Amino acid sequence: MEERGSPDGDPARNLEQGPEGPETPIQVVLRVRPMSAAELRRGEQSVLHCSGTRTLQVSPPGGGPDVAFRFGAVLDGASTQDDVFRACGVRRLGELALRGFSCTVFTFGQTGSGKTYTLTGPPPQGEGVPVPPSLAGIMQRTFTWLLDRVQHLDVPVTLHASYLEIYNEQIRDLLSLGAPRPLPVRWNKTRGFYVEQLRVVEFGSLGALMELLQMGLSRRRSSAHTLNQASSRSHALLTLYIGHQTPLPSPHGALILQPQQMPPVDAGELPAGGKLCFVDLAGSEKVVATGSRGELMLEANSINRSLLALGHCISLLLDPQRKQSHIPFRDSKLTKLLADSLGGHGVTLMVACVSPSAQCLPETLSTLRYASRAQRVTTRPQAPRPPKAKPPQHLETELLQLQEENLHLRSQLGQMDPKASGLSGARAAWAQRNLYGMLQEFMLENERLRKEKKQLQSSRDLAHGEQRILAQQVRELERRLLSACYLQQPGPGPTPPCPCVMVPPLLCHAPPLLCPRCQLCPLCRAPLAHWACPRRELHLPQVFGSKAPGDWPLSARPPPWAPPCCPSSAKCSRERSRSEWTQTQVLAEMLTKEKVMPSAPPLPAGPLNASPVLRGGAAVPNLARRLEALRDQIGTSLRRGRSQPPPR
Ligand code: ADP
Ligand code: MG
Repeated sequence: MEERGSPDGDPARNLEQGPEGPETPIQVVLRVRPMSAAELRRGEQSVLHCSGTRTLQVSPPGGGPDVAFRFGAVLDGASTQDDVFRACGVRRLGELALRGFSCTVFTFGQTGSGKTYTLTGPPPQGEGVPVPPSLAGIMQRTFTWLLDRVQHLDVPVTLHASYLEIYNEQIRDLLSLGAPRPLPVRWNKTRGFYVEQLRVVEFGSLGALMELLQMGLSRRRSSAHTLNQASSRSHALLTLYIGHQTPLPSPHGALILQPQQMPPVDAGELPAGGKLCFVDLAGSEKVVATGSRGELMLEANSINRSLLALGHCISLLLDPQRKQSHIPFRDSKLTKLLADSLGGHGVTLMVACVSPSAQCLPETLSTLRYASRAQRVTTRPQAPRPPKAKPPQHLETELLQLQEENLHLRSQLGQMDPKASGLSGARAAWAQRNLYGMLQEFMLENERLRKEKKQLQSSRDLAHGEQRILAQQVRELERRLLSACYLQQPGPGPTPPCPCVMVPPLLCHAPPLLCPRCQLCPLCRAPLAHWACPRRELHLPQVFGSKAPGDWPLSARPPPWAPPCCPSSAKCSRERSRSEWTQTQVLAEMLTKEKVMPSAPPLPAGPLNASPVLRGGAAVPNLARRLEALRDQIGTSLRRGRSQPPPR
């Protein structure tokens, strides 16, 4: 028979499409066992009919409406073990396990519906008698395929197996060296639920694995039952671990597998750490209907309780409102060990087994509903991440240094408590960003001001130079003016007039230096002030006209430190001509008060667009104006002198 299942219903195809997608539903395959000889003898009717490869029709006796159920694949009683193996896509699960995924196949159904048969074939006909190859179940076929696959891999693969049963809510190691004893179920973050001290046996050949299987099957609890002569009374879990590193040996000599120590395959596509688990559930049954008594009833109650817990977890997993909430996997050992397969990161295949007999219809309908719900449960398959290769020594040292530095910087950052500065985290970040922006602005502003300062300094130097030239010109003009005045003076007596009509501009010839008729300061050779001259009464009385002393402006009066003209005459100073003082004042201002003192460059008082030269050298035009006035006066004096007869 050809492989059954439509493209989108084929679990193998679906798994191939990407088990690491966001969510992968549990794949469900339905197997209907054939009517047994006993059922046929009793004249029981079949109420199940396969319609196509994915739909099962249930025709209730008595003419009720048909009920249809759809699954990934539906296999009728004529299907062979090989058909089932192919339709279930177990080989694909094996491939996924080789790539590191955690995969689970479990059978589910009423007692006597063919779960054990589907997984491991018919019960052994005698001690040491193997199952005929044609009747071998999914497990043996998977083992054969896996061992063959592993042999053709380019990389060495280590294979281990464990086998346990849950009997009356106790876990028993079916591969234990001594008599099986109850083992605890533990949980940790890395491994999830696991069985402590479970014996995990390494195997290297198909024969060795088959021996382990036979050993477990022979130790498994089974009882004669009205529905099944060899009814298994426990849930059995056989797990294959696929890895590439020798697991740590257990204290008892067996190997305890450390899943986190199963490294990836180095070369190629096979990260390791995969797992393939086969779960043969004990069958659900109605205690009253099966007539179980005593120990059988106790077993049935335990089985039903754990199956009930399993059903409860599936219901909760299906409820979108409660999916995020707590799933009571801890309610039973079975749900603990299936937690990863049902709601975790595993890839799961359920093979639902049903009997076609009308006598079993209520149980069959229950199984069908249960399986229908289960195929809506989704998992998020994840392969274990391969551990990173160890970096070289120098990189490791560098990494450690960087980590230390990182820690140090983090601690420093932690000390900069934003609350201490009254800022919340977001505001502190904002302020830091803006402080940085402000700093940049200040730097630019600083640069701009530096340039402006440079410009102003050069302007000031220019102004100084210009001022010096003007001062020289003023002195020259002054001399020329005095000469002109001297020439203009008619000369009443033999004594020549004193030409020193200037206010002493420098301290070296400040009073009481006397004018020795040379009219010059003996130190710096600058002309002396008129009032400082002892012969000032002989000076030229007027150059620009006269006026009463009382009318003199303040600037034209002699300075307070000026000595009296002569001791006998208090009116001496008042007798001086106004022009003398005016002239003196003008020149004094030129040489003292109007000295250009450029201000500091920033903060200009004038308009911002004014030239720095103008701002820094405002006195220069003033000097120029006064120089012009002097030139005019000299010109006037010269003209007047030329029009008069020269002195004798
Ligand atoms: P379960 O494990 O569900 O309680 P079993 O697998 O033990 O039931 O099967 C009960 C009986 O039915 C066994 O004798 C088994 O050989 C027989 N049986 C089950 N399924 C088939 C099948 N598909 N073809 C032939 N015999 C079957
Ligand atoms: Mg069974």
